[in-house]
Amino acid sequence: MAVDIDYDVVVVGGSFAGLAVAMQLRGRRVLIVDQYPIGSHQISACGTPLTTARAVGAQASTLETHNTLALHAAGKTIHFPLKDPYITFDYRAFCQAMLRQTDAEVWQVRGTALDARQVETSNGPVDARFVVNASGWRAHPKEIAPDNRQAHPAGYGLETELPLRWQDPGLHFYFIKQWVRNGYAWIFPCGGTTRFGIGSFNRNDQLRPALDRFLSHLGLKSAQTHGGVLAIGRRQPLHEGVFLVGDAAGQCLPVTGEGIRTAIFHGLHCGRAIARALAGDLNASQARHLYALQVRSMDRFHRRLLTLQTIVAHTPEPLLAAAARVCARPSTIDWIMTKYWVHSGWFAAPAT
Ligand SMILES: Cc1cc2nc3c(=O)[nH]c(=O)nc-3n(C[C@H](O)[C@H](O)[C@H](O)COP(=O)(O)OP(=O)(O)OC[C@H]3O[C@@H](n4cnc5c(N)ncnc54)[C@H](O)[C@@H]3O)c2cc1C
Repeated sequence: MAVDIDYDVVVVGGSFAGLAVAMQLRGRRVLIVDQYPIGSHQISACGTPLTTARAVGAQASTLETHNTLALHAAGKTIHFPLKDPYITFDYRAFCQAMLRQTDAEVWQVRGTALDARQVETSNGPVDARFVVNASGWRAHPKEIAPDNRQAHPAGYGLETELPLRWQDPGLHFYFIKQWVRNGYAWIFPCGGTTRFGIGSFNRNDQLRPALDRFLSHLGLKSAQTHGGVLAIGRRQPLHEGVFLVGDAAGQCLPVTGEGIRTAIFHGLHCGRAIARALAGDLNASQARHLYALQVRSMDRFHRRLLTLQTIVAHTPEPLLAAAARVCARPSTIDWIMTKYWVHSGWFAAPAT
């Protein structure tokens, strides 16, 4: 049964990437389809630079602001002062703040098949001038299937949030191979609660026992968990005319597993390209080309991070701690963070 309705744009997935696309399309007929109510299904530790939250008007969702990163390895703790802070935030409040800045209609349905002009949903087919796939890592289950993991690397993350206040400020990363061989554990304080997680780039690592070992070392026990895939394997940003954004396009970064800032960054660019086509500034294929160029301009840095990830996996903990100490000098860490942000999706801090 065809639904008697047409949209300028249908976006499948109403999280960071999909909402960023829709924010650029105010005044247009936009439909967001998501299988869950917007902001109800957190998979992430929800840490991102404050500048990213500000760029999408979601800074009021901040739970705690962090001016340092702390790396723990080989019994040492190395603090990295941050010129631009990171925040931990409330996922629902963040998504709702983004949604309020769109004119989109939202359907709580599954998108089951997509092509350049139509989305098949559990409510029937919907036609649109442009279709965006922002449905996250589940958009490419085949590519993370066991026979295709070499070509499409992926990470895996699992997290629990406990109702306790972590006294040591900053975002904490533990590179301790006894807990996770190729990856890290984290502690993200969030005001009155704290998020504890394990991220691994090795598909053979068992995350649940690793999380339990990490927590028991801290004298804690896991509560309810959430998590999923770290979509670090890049895909083409376009597939048969459909725009792919965020984890659906493998835009999550190797080494750090940071995917919120990149999903928003590329989502805003995708939305702007489509907005220009709808305004008649570009034709549809020029808009697709513009978005693809933007994404591909960052491919080289992504490949470098993949190489760095392999190096980190093979570096003994004491050497990692020594390298971290060198990088922790304020001028060095400033330089590293600026390069990292500029080459993977930069939101400038507002002028003070
Ligand atoms: C445990 C863990 C911790 C992480 N921590 C961080 C962190 O602290 N900082 C950071 O930057 N990154 C982190 N990441 C990565 C980050 O969460 C992702 O990169 C980011 O969420 C990507 O955003 P997205 O909008 O592309 O996809 P998602 O956030 O996954 O959103 C996809 C949306 O699509 C919807 N959807 C999926 N399929 C369908 C369908 N068929 N029909 C309709 N709707 C559909 C989903 O319900 C969802 O709302 C973490 C990842 C994991 C697994």
